[in-house]
Amino acid sequence: MPNKVFKMSMDSNLIVLCQPDEVKSCGACCGLYNYVDSTRASLTSRLRRRTKYFRETVKTPADVERYASEIKSSEDLTKRYEGIYCCEYLGFLDEREKKVGCLLHPQRNEGCDLRDVSFYGRELCAGHLCPSHYFIPDSQVRILLGILDDWYLYGLCITDIDLVKTYFKLLADRIGEELKPEAFASETLVRIARQYFGWKIDWPFRSADTNRLGKYYFDGSQYMISHIDYEKLGTNISEYNAIFLSLSSVFRNKREIELAQEMISANIDKFVRTYAGGR
Ligand code: SF4
Ligand code: SF4
Repeated sequence: MPNKVFKMSMDSNLIVLCQPDEVKSCGACCGLYNYVDSTRASLTSRLRRRTKYFRETVKTPADVERYASEIKSSEDLTKRYEGIYCCEYLGFLDEREKKVGCLLHPQRNEGCDLRDVSFYGRELCAGHLCPSHYFIPDSQVRILLGILDDWYLYGLCITDIDLVKTYFKLLADRIGEELKPEAFASETLVRIARQYFGWKIDWPFRSADTNRLGKYYFDGSQYMISHIDYEKLGTNISEYNAIFLSLSSVFRNKREIELAQEMISANIDKFVRTYAGGR
């Protein structure tokens, strides 16, 4: 899980996304965003407290159990999805709090791998690669790594395959070619793309329903894929439907759908104009 470093794996050209560089990392599969309160402020203070407590109290493997029981008894562990474990060993890896990661990882513990005690166990923690590794093309990964520089947004975006692929497909269709990472030497293009990915946090049509992350919701017993009832709202399925679902959108009327479409179209138009102007 999140302490695998940015490297080409030995047996393939796969880029490992968990710890790509010094300014960001991901902890999504350790349950980072599965707390009912998964705002940046809440997660930051949760991870900060854990990291401090771990540093102060875990001096030998025998101390880990006490650490875990203190964290479990003192934190609000209410989850979004019951089926996803929220791991108590996720913390910050660096003083600047730029990188989230596993407090039990050997790199943090003078070579001693403490992950045997974890819910998933050492083997799974060390070997898991989420679907983004296989479904987001290498060039798109490289673009994302270049434009996102903060753990909170990075983890939300790199695990949202639809959000990433749909955007780059829409851009490629308009531009007439696949976007290359080199195009993002332009600060203006970076800013435009950041506006799009930033909607993962501040999208105005985002559902206020806390039991929801991206296109999935939990109905009390299982995950369901949400959908937008376009017919009821008196309109056709939007070409941006996949993006709307990734952004957890809920629309009250047709006008709101139109406004949302205008926002995405304006972002794409601006990107395409800037891209064409720079060639
Ligand atoms: S969700 Fe994927 S990228 Fe994120 S830490 Fe897990 S395996 Fe790595
Ligand atoms: S022990 Fe917890 S934080 Fe560490 S890799 Fe496993 S699930 Fe993630």
